[in-house]
Amino acid sequence: MPDDVIARLRAAVRDVPDFPKKGIVFKDITPVLNDGTLFHSSIDIFLDRCRGKQIDKIVGIDARGFLFGSAVAYQLGVGFVPLRKKGRLPYKTESAKYSLEYGEAEMELHIDAIKRGEKIVLIDDLLATGGTSASAATLIKKVEGDLIEAIFLIELEFLHGREKLAPTPVTAFLKY
Ligand code: AMP
Repeated sequence: MPDDVIARLRAAVRDVPDFPKKGIVFKDITPVLNDGTLFHSSIDIFLDRCRGKQIDKIVGIDARGFLFGSAVAYQLGVGFVPLRKKGRLPYKTESAKYSLEYGEAEMELHIDAIKRGEKIVLIDDLLATGGTSASAATLIKKVEGDLIEAIFLIELEFLHGREKLAPTPVTAFLKY
């Protein structure tokens, strides 16, 4: 993965202090999405990481995980599974509660979205405390999917979120 791509992505991610609440520095990825070349590059680095692996489905986390995850699924020609905040999915769901860097939440997955043994890659924009993705991993396990890797554009390393995902391999491109 070329260093200049990583440097350009890093330069584009905008820090927004005290959002959504005081003390949180929000990593705003919308400047990456707004720039056609950067958005393309961001999808390419996810794809590079997925190539050569047998993947049945991409699971994307509500809502920014949908932006990256669905583009990656499209390119790989595999299914996309949206993992949504409580109350948004219309059919029968499995759910898991989790705590965020800035609050509490509950995540849901359609019970028939993943078949037993399917190889899953989890995608989101950012790994912070790992609560969200650990609950995603719990849900994938509940429906007997095989989570082979979790990939993030950004990792806030000082929050040690990847420990919550162990033993699932974790990849992140921009580390803070
Ligand atoms: P966590 O469960 O703490 O790993 O939080 C990860 C989820 O919350 C991801 O879906 C992120 O999009 C969002 N998130 C948490 N902290 C931040 C932050 N500092 N900047 C941007 N998004 C964040």
